[in-house]
Amino acid sequence: MNETRHNWTKEEILGIYNKPLMELLYDAATIHRKHHDPNTVQVSTLLSIKTGGCPEDCGYCPQAARYHTNIEGNDLMSVQQVKAQALRAKSSGSSRVCMGAAWRNVKDGVEFDQVLEMVRTINKLEMEVCCTLGMITENQAQRLAEAGLYAYNHNLDSSEEYYKEVISTRGYEDRLETIDNVRKTNVTVCSGGIIGMGEKTEDRAGMLVALSTLNPQPESVPINALVAVEGTPLEDQKPVSIWDMVRMVATTRIVMPETQVRLSAGRTEMTREGQAMCFFAGANSIFAGDKLLTTPNPDVNEDMEMFKLLGLNPQKPFIKKMQPETVEAQDSQYQALGEKPKWTRPEHKIERNEDAKQKAKALK
Ligand code: SF4
Repeated sequence: MNETRHNWTKEEILGIYNKPLMELLYDAATIHRKHHDPNTVQVSTLLSIKTGGCPEDCGYCPQAARYHTNIEGNDLMSVQQVKAQALRAKSSGSSRVCMGAAWRNVKDGVEFDQVLEMVRTINKLEMEVCCTLGMITENQAQRLAEAGLYAYNHNLDSSEEYYKEVISTRGYEDRLETIDNVRKTNVTVCSGGIIGMGEKTEDRAGMLVALSTLNPQPESVPINALVAVEGTPLEDQKPVSIWDMVRMVATTRIVMPETQVRLSAGRTEMTREGQAMCFFAGANSIFAGDKLLTTPNPDVNEDMEMFKLLGLNPQKPFIKKMQPETVEAQDSQYQALGEKPKWTRPEHKIERNEDAKQKAKALK
């Protein structure tokens, strides 16, 4: 039970997820202690370096240009702005900065060069740097690696079956392709999903099959609870119950023992008792800062109070893997190839996404 397996089946994972809760918690906590310090939790800061205006149709996302939401879009931040925010994050206990840009995919050019410079700058601050920029090619992943990127995030979101009910502008295999491109470099993989989008328990298990059968498994798996934003196709979804969150975290911990399991979006809806249960079940990272890209998140001081109350310590950077070296732009071995990742264009339409788009059109 304690060895990392890459052949989990949906039935086995469902069996774990549906165990009596006390048994599930005990199993997850036991595995957690074997592989991690149970009193250490990584604090990561998520920065939206380019907000809104995305051409994709992800049903949960307020940054999709086609929906009418109240988010304020912004162009790509400057390297100096990012550095200032990273320093602030470091002084309040963060050891990782995750930079998110609302792009379908990375395009070689001035903006990507600017992101590479952000990666170099944060890596020199001795913080782990993660990026989530949409689909990337192998060459682009190599360029990020060379700049000193520690992790690349690209979520699978749900099971392959339910993914088709949420996103129609690209396929599941495109997500896997980007993860594969990242795997060809020394950058670690961060990939997880969202619960509470209307999926069945089988879909949650299906997502964990897809992630746990990757070899190697992702070093980091964020588990998000949907934050239903007005104007998005999923605006009417009810908040996910804490029991579902705890079960999902515990099951993730059991099937991916070495992975850093991240308690991500949806923490504002959770009590401290609920979060404590998630830490006991194997969650060992939170995102700090009052916003998670565009949705609310607990205040950093509140989080530090919670850490004190629970006797938790923020994790230091680079304890799982050495700090990558940074190669300066002028010494780079990788030229921009001007390539675009290839992606499938699924034919299907998602009714609720179409409705939300029409509603937004009428309001504009
Ligand atoms: S989740 Fe990412 S790819 Fe999807 S619409 Fe939002 S910003 Fe675009």
